[in-house]
Amino acid sequence: MITVTRRFTFAAAHRLVKGYEGICSSLHGHNYTLDITLSTPYSTLDKHGMILDFNAIRTAVTDGVLGKLDHATLVCSADKALIGFLRKNHQRYVTFENNPTAEVIAEWILNEVNKVLAEKFPSCRVLRVVLYETQNCSAEVTGEGS
Ligand SMILES: [Zn+2]
Repeated sequence: MITVTRRFTFAAAHRLVKGYEGICSSLHGHNYTLDITLSTPYSTLDKHGMILDFNAIRTAVTDGVLGKLDHATLVCSADKALIGFLRKNHQRYVTFENNPTAEVIAEWILNEVNKVLAEKFPSCRVLRVVLYETQNCSAEVTGEGS
């Protein structure tokens, strides 16, 4: 197996609900840093010796996935008050079934990137997503790779 990793950044707001009482229950934002690792069996490197061109990875992930998250509010589907405000004020938002924690967002990103890859680059799959909410706090989700 060979892997490549590309780093991305995006900005988003969120808050935690469902009875969460910590400081993150207040709406706030992060400049997220995201490392996405793709894998492929060695025998499926392309004729240029690549899993996938880093520029192609950038375009696929940015256009297909991060374009939805960047400068959006990431909101739990149970947070009806916030969803109502966002909808009424024509704000960008993405809903999640659970609280939009780094863990939940990272898993969502893994699944969404795999959908884009399956459509455009079927030999690649996501092996790992590491999402940094701050410099010191991250969540990591491991996929099956390819
Ligand atoms: Zn936060």
